Amino acid sequence: MTHRPFASADPALDEEVALLADADQRARSYIAGIGSRPVFPTERDIAGLSAFRESLPGEGHAPSSTVRLLDDVGSAGAVETNGGRYFGFVTGATLPVAAAADRIALAWDNSGTSSAGSPVSAVIEDVAAGWLLDILDLPRSSAVGFTTSASAGTVIALAAARRSLLAAHGWDLDRAGLAGSPTIRVVASELAHVVVIKALRILGFGLDNIEWAPVDDFGRIDPEKLPALDSSTILILQAGEVNSGEFDPFDRVIAIAESAGAWVHVDGAFGLWARASKHRELTSGVDRANSWTVDGHKWLNTPYDSAMVIARDPDALVGAMKSEAVYLPPAPDAQRNRTLEFSRRARGIPVWAALRTLGRAGVADLVERTMSLASYAADGLREAGYDVLNRVTLNQVLVATDDPEQTQRVLLAAQQSGRTWFGQTSWRGQLAFRISVSSWRTTRADIDDLVDLLRSLRHIG
Ligand SMILES: *Cc1c(COP(=O)(O)O)cnc(C)c1O
Repeated sequence: MTHRPFASADPALDEEVALLADADQRARSYIAGIGSRPVFPTERDIAGLSAFRESLPGEGHAPSSTVRLLDDVGSAGAVETNGGRYFGFVTGATLPVAAAADRIALAWDNSGTSSAGSPVSAVIEDVAAGWLLDILDLPRSSAVGFTTSASAGTVIALAAARRSLLAAHGWDLDRAGLAGSPTIRVVASELAHVVVIKALRILGFGLDNIEWAPVDDFGRIDPEKLPALDSSTILILQAGEVNSGEFDPFDRVIAIAESAGAWVHVDGAFGLWARASKHRELTSGVDRANSWTVDGHKWLNTPYDSAMVIARDPDALVGAMKSEAVYLPPAPDAQRNRTLEFSRRARGIPVWAALRTLGRAGVADLVERTMSLASYAADGLREAGYDVLNRVTLNQVLVATDDPEQTQRVLLAAQQSGRTWFGQTSWRGQLAFRISVSSWRTTRADIDDLVDLLRSLRHIG
């Protein structure tokens, strides 16, 4: 289709287009200013956010005034996570093409419920699902649901796991419910991410019933200490522990689970992407699990609300998530039957845009580059007199001084410097700061600046 310059005889449309152009101009200025603002807003800019605390207007304001307030006051109060010097929380910046694709999909305003709601969304998400399985080298006949977060994906996967194990024991969860059902056990890493614990709570597993699998000094499940598994067990592993970036030993542990008939779920929120790089051996054996969650909005650098839940057995996923309605043609492959959402943004579109633009080589480069920058940061920080507490086998660097109070002082000073931002954590009982290198924008110069800053703060009093 050739590009037609916009021309309309409808003044309301003209106004809409002008509003979008204004918003777009503002968004472009924000992007153009990346790197020139403090990474974390100043106290003054945060105080300025009180301008949003208006009372609910009776008559409503002009749309242009709302856009103006959002940008004039709001942009100054935003954290520059979309830059190269933000190292908090494994966030990643957004790839320009993923953000651009999201903008176009927003203009369509289609609900990605099924092809009846949006033929284009259904096709693109189907393609993105296939590419995802390909690049992560997971069983190609798996089902993929594009959902809001690894949190939602975990709820979905564990619901599917339980329903499926119960069915194998002759119990129809949909009809009979949980009361009186055979017990489904959960074995999870001691270091399972908080959202895994949240999903277990939501689903009513009962935290007192969880059997915690002990981890070794690096934070990986120790196969020798794994609780006995059976065919009523869900085993939850992780690819990329949120502090250390470590991987559970999938080959050994999944082999045990397979022979026991247990369901294996892998939380691969960010770490699973290592599989798309030359470091794929970190994930060796992970493809033998039953379900996986992986984020787009972290290491793949798509905009937020982007994650995938993947199930080896499509029927298990669709069985748990099906939401057929009398007014819709049945469609087991429709996204509404793979996620929690019925009406939904087609979250696979930015994923598709990212994968199409990066290709295999680009995804590998993103992962490998950020990993090598993490090692580079670790070397520099050791040399600057810090302790690096983890092995830095992925993109996470845990840093401390020998004195927790000093670590805290350095952390606060770094956060207030405006030159960078990262958060704090606790690793094996020790206060540390956690530097996650996951933005496509981060360069060696950004890491040099980080190390210079921390060197200058090392003995701050
Ligand atoms: C971030 C993270 C999650 C949660 O993912 P969301 O997409 O933020 O819900 C789960 N597990 C691990 C290991 C994570 O790093």
